[in-house]
Amino acid sequence: MHTEGKIGICVYPGTFDPITNGHIDIIKRARYLFSKVKILVARDADKNTLFSFTERVRIVKTAISSIEGVECEGFDGLLIDYLKRTGITIVVRGLRAVSDFDYEFQFTLMNRKLYPPVEFVFVMPGEEYFFLSSSLVKEIAFLGGEVGEFVPKIVEEEIKKKLRIYEAHNKS
Ligand code: ADP
Repeated sequence: MHTEGKIGICVYPGTFDPITNGHIDIIKRARYLFSKVKILVARDADKNTLFSFTERVRIVKTAISSIEGVECEGFDGLLIDYLKRTGITIVVRGLRAVSDFDYEFQFTLMNRKLYPPVEFVFVMPGEEYFFLSSSLVKEIAFLGGEVGEFVPKIVEEEIKKKLRIYEAHNKS
């Protein structure tokens, strides 16, 4: 696809539990616009995640290692505090079917109220990713389905590892 971004740096925050090909599609499209895309993995202690914070950061780093101009780091607390600290003001989010709109609308307006310099950019994925979500991937995997076509290789491997741990745990 496209290779060169032209307008500075943006962040792409999310839970990434786990990162899917839909996220990767957004990252590549964001990279078309921006010279650097920083993926921010939220600790989100409140959410019941399949992968720990450390695992999610490590998996994203592996999944994006061949994409030039893209970095990943973990963050804790409010997104706007991270933005204030780093001076970055542009946030990219992915927009799928109508279901994302309500939440993203609230999230954007609230962040803007808290920190007016922030600007959100919404990127639509390719249509094959419109109905893909991390939760669907987890559901399919736990019901014994193959998820290889929806996620990077590293995620497929890590999900299989988790399943083996769960199976061993349930047997004992
Ligand atoms: P969050 O918990 O913040 O929603 P996610 O990791 O689920 O974190 O998603 C991060 C961002 O990526 C959100 O903007 C979400 O709408 C977007 N996203 C997730 N899956 C897809 C997809 N298949 N296509 C496009 N955008 C997506």
